[in-house]
Amino acid sequence: MAGERRATETEHAGGCRCGRIRFSSTVAPDFLGICHCGDCRRASGAPFLAFVGFRRADLHFVGAELKTFGEAPVSRGFCGDCGSPLTYADARLPDRIFVVLGAMDRAERYPPDQQAFLSERLPFAALTVDLPGHARTSVPRP
Ligand SMILES: [Zn+2]
Ligand SMILES: [Zn+2]
Repeated sequence: MAGERRATETEHAGGCRCGRIRFSSTVAPDFLGICHCGDCRRASGAPFLAFVGFRRADLHFVGAELKTFGEAPVSRGFCGDCGSPLTYADARLPDRIFVVLGAMDRAERYPPDQQAFLSERLPFAALTVDLPGHARTSVPRP
């Protein structure tokens, strides 16, 4: 039932650990999911990474400039001061941006409803994750 999320007046906000980068959207996210790929694991230091996805035009950043790292078409954004991972963008999905769940102010509001890259999932990650899954990406690229 992912299709019924609509714009609300509620602010969806978050930021990095040190607070120099903040972001917000008044439109609800249109994607809530986990990624088990090895690249997300390395980028986060966590066994898997959860994302909250927005339309790029809806998400507004204030504060310090986002630093980026990644191999095209993927670009990962982080805070250059505190090092917190913040965003994931893919040039093949130019109107989308994915924020790491842990950067959201009220992370409990964004329960993941799917998981991607089951093919790279750590065997013990299955102990805590029981969601519909995809062997590879959950957001098809053109
Ligand atoms: Zn920071
Ligand atoms: Zn990933």
